[in-house]
Amino acid sequence: MDLDYDRQHVWHPYTSTINPLPCYPVTHADGVTLYLEDGRELIDGMSSWWSAIHGYNHPVLNQAAQDQLGKMSHVMFGGLTHQPAVELCRKLIAMTPEPLQQVFLADSGSVSVEVALKMALQYWHAKGESRAKFLTLRHGYHGDTFAAMSVTDPDNSMHSLYKGFLPEHLFADSPALGFHDEWDESDIADFASRLDQHHQDIAAVILEPVVQGAGGMRIYHPTFLRRVRELCDVYGVLLIVDEIATGFGRTGKLFACEHAGISPDIMCVGKALTGGYMTLAATLTTRHLADTVCSGAAGCFMHGPTFMGNPLACAVANASLSLLETGEWQQQVNQIEAQLAELLPAVAQSDKVKAVRWLGAIGVVELYEPVDMVTIQQSFVDNGVWIRPFGRLIYIMPPFIINNQQLKKLVFAILQSLH
Ligand code: PMP
Repeated sequence: MDLDYDRQHVWHPYTSTINPLPCYPVTHADGVTLYLEDGRELIDGMSSWWSAIHGYNHPVLNQAAQDQLGKMSHVMFGGLTHQPAVELCRKLIAMTPEPLQQVFLADSGSVSVEVALKMALQYWHAKGESRAKFLTLRHGYHGDTFAAMSVTDPDNSMHSLYKGFLPEHLFADSPALGFHDEWDESDIADFASRLDQHHQDIAAVILEPVVQGAGGMRIYHPTFLRRVRELCDVYGVLLIVDEIATGFGRTGKLFACEHAGISPDIMCVGKALTGGYMTLAATLTTRHLADTVCSGAAGCFMHGPTFMGNPLACAVANASLSLLETGEWQQQVNQIEAQLAELLPAVAQSDKVKAVRWLGAIGVVELYEPVDMVTIQQSFVDNGVWIRPFGRLIYIMPPFIINNQQLKKLVFAILQSLH
C-alpha cells in the first residue's frame, strides 16, 4: 500500500495534514483479528468504534450482503419500498421500548441525530409553540454535523471555532455519580434547575443513556436517566435518547435505556446496527409524535436523503439483528463484563491511573495525564492489539465474540503501555 500517498493526500479522522500520526495498513480482518500488511496480527479492542459486535468477515453477514447484491444494491426510497427495509423497521420496533412505533432510516449516526432534532422542532412547530432550544449534558457526544455538534460538549467539540454559526443550546452538569454509587438527588440538581428555568423554550432533552462515550467515557447512575424522564414529563419536554454507541447489547442490556426502565420519545440507533459492515442508522419515535409532526404546516417530515433505506445496508442489518435475536450476545457480554471486573482493578494499581470503570463490554482506564499517541499506539501494535486511546482515556469495547485469552491480551497490553 502506498503509505506515502496516504500521508500526502488522504485525510484521516481528527488528523493533521501537516503532521499526520502514523497509520497502519490493514489488508483484511476476521473474527476479532485485524491483519496488517506487514504480516502482524492485532486483537481488536475497538470493534471499529463500537460497531463490529459480531466480529469481522462473519459468514452470516457476508451471506446476507451477497444475497442482497444479486437483487439490488440500492433503489430510491421515495415512492418505492422493499422487503429489507420493512423487515428492518419491524425488527427495530419489536426490540426497542413499546411506545416507539415509527422508524426513519438515516445514513449515519450524526444524521439520525439531525433527524431527531428536526423531529422535535417540527413537533413543537405543529403544536403552534416556538421552542428552539435543546437541553443536554456536558461531556456528551452526538456527532460531527452542525446540529449534532451543537449539543455535543462545547469544549471537546470546540464550539468557539464556529461561534456565530453554531446554535447555542443549554448544557447541564454531567452526572458525577457512577453506575454503582449510592444515588443522591444532588446529582440531578443542576439539570433540574436548568429545566425548571428554561422549559418553555426547550424542544427536547438529548443525552446518551447511562454511558457518555466519546465525550469522556463516563458511566453514570441509571437513576439519573430515570429522573430525567420524570422531569421531562413534569415539564412537558420531549426526551431524545442517543443509543448510537450503547445500543445492541454493548452495556449488558439490549438498549441502555433498559437499565433505567424508561422509554424516550425519540431514540437514535446506528453503529452496530449493521454489525459494523456499513453505515446505517435509524431514528425511532412514537405514533403520537410522528402524527403531530405530519399534522403541521409542511404536512410531512422534511427529510429524505438519497441513500435512505439502502437495501444492502438493511439486509446486513437484518442479519445482524437476527444474530442478536438468538440471545447469545447476553452471555458473551456478561462474560466480558465479569472478566473486566476481574482484570481492570489490577490496572488501577498503576500510579498513572486515576480510575478504572466498566459496564457490559466496555472497559475504561482513565489516566492523570493525556497519552502520547504515537508512542502508545506503537506499544499496542507491538503487543499485538488494536486499541485507540484519546486524551487521558484508554478504553476497550471489543467484539462480543472475543474469548478470555484475547481479552486478557488486551488488558495486558494496556498494563504494558503504562510502563
Ligand atoms: N452519537 C454517539 C453517542 C456516538 O458515539 C456517535 C459516533 N461516535 C455519533 C452519535 C455519531 O455517529 P456517526 O459517527 O455514525 O455519525
